[in-house]
Amino acid sequence: MRVIVLGAGVIGAATAYYLARDGHQVTLVDRHEGVAREASYANGGQLSYSYVAPLADPGVWTKLAPWLLSPTSPVRFRPQLDPLQWRWCLQFLAACTSARSAETTRHLLRLGHASRRLMDDLLALEPALDFAYVKSGKLVVYRDTASLVSAGRQVDYQSRLLGDGDHRQQVLDAAACVAIEPALEHIRREIVGGVHTPSEDTADCYRFSMALVDRMRAVSSENVCLFDTVIERLRVSGRQIVGVDTRNGRLQADAYVLAGGCDSPRLVRPLRMSLPIYPLKGYSLTAPIADANAAPTLSVTDFQRKIVYARIDGHLRAAGIADIVGYDRAIKRQRMATLIAEARAVFPGAVDYRQVEAWTGLRPATPSGRPILGRTPYANLWLNVGHGALGFTLSLASGRAVADLIGGQPPFVALDGLTLPGLAR
Ligand SMILES: Cc1cc2nc3c(=O)[nH]c(=O)nc-3n(C[C@H](O)[C@H](O)[C@H](O)COP(=O)(O)OP(=O)(O)OC[C@H]3O[C@@H](n4cnc5c(N)ncnc54)[C@H](O)[C@@H]3O)c2cc1C
Repeated sequence: MRVIVLGAGVIGAATAYYLARDGHQVTLVDRHEGVAREASYANGGQLSYSYVAPLADPGVWTKLAPWLLSPTSPVRFRPQLDPLQWRWCLQFLAACTSARSAETTRHLLRLGHASRRLMDDLLALEPALDFAYVKSGKLVVYRDTASLVSAGRQVDYQSRLLGDGDHRQQVLDAAACVAIEPALEHIRREIVGGVHTPSEDTADCYRFSMALVDRMRAVSSENVCLFDTVIERLRVSGRQIVGVDTRNGRLQADAYVLAGGCDSPRLVRPLRMSLPIYPLKGYSLTAPIADANAAPTLSVTDFQRKIVYARIDGHLRAAGIADIVGYDRAIKRQRMATLIAEARAVFPGAVDYRQVEAWTGLRPATPSGRPILGRTPYANLWLNVGHGALGFTLSLASGRAVADLIGGQPPFVALDGLTLPGLAR
């Protein structure tokens, strides 16, 4: 079958890779000059299969006031004249209940663990893939007792759901956190403890996406990338997509996969489809490690500050901040300064903080934090969108499941709770 994948971020790349492996003829389209130039470029680098807790949880209600008022808070809201933003925020608040958060966790864990299995398969099948992959393990640290207690409950909930198996999570006190990650010494007195998950990984999402696309092209010369190609609209006839108009002309295929990140809703709005996806703008810094003892070897998440740290190929990557400020892709000096100050406070000697590479990206977020996969009202249009803060982590399972559906197979992982409402897989 001829399949066009719309968008070459990590989600489009993973989908294209599996489609090519299944023998389809794949065309991957993107407006940039290469793969993964938007949200998938310099993200946190965490493959966080077991730590999938959504942003929308009941704890949000007590944090709302500081988030709205403090200029250095990890979340910022700037109202826009955009009904989509308001609708998204209301849906987000509606998702901030214990029941919804637990339900989302359950669905994301299923997809996360399926991704971990696929990553193992991929590494076995393609040992030459080079994307700075490390089985680093992950430590989430907490700065107040209430959050740590709540994290402990989450660990219990997850182990009841999954059984302990190989993916055990352990609650540690502050001293034990510093013992397994000595680079945290500087904030020893500020943290009360953490959750350690030895089976989480880190890697470079940009290089991962490029590697998958290289493999896609290696499968057959009929698999191609069309870069510098702006998608303008999808053409429909009845309940079928019959082509894609781009600035470089019309493209046609038998099936189409939408993987356009936070621009996906705009592409399908003319088709009377409404996708509840809005950008959550984040920032990252990357710098060569100056003192190996001062930089973390585990991937570390500072829960209260909402910042993740990873060591990627001799560099420290710190990523965080979730600003609900529309589609503005500019790097705001003040927000970048907040991220640098936070990183410097946690790992002061790790890098030269005057020499960091600054980056911003828009997470394609749904209010609940669940991606939307699979079927649409159009028989040959498929969705792989809305992965929010976990797109790198969930890319393989999402790509595999959508490729299964296009091939007429049941998806290898159940997609309940992860589809467009009203459209079972
Ligand atoms: C600061 C930050 C830190 C993060 N950290 C992590 C992490 O540690 N672990 C993790 O799992 N996830 C993380 N994420 C989330 C992850 O990066 C995203 O979920 C993921 O990159 C989304 O991938 P995507 O392919 O859906 O979107 P994108 O990477 O944005 O790709 C969409 C593509 O569609 C193309 N496109 C859209 N519209 C058009 C059009 N009209 N014409 C042509 N092309 C079009 C775009 O050019 C783009 O290349 C982080 C995100 C941010 C911002």
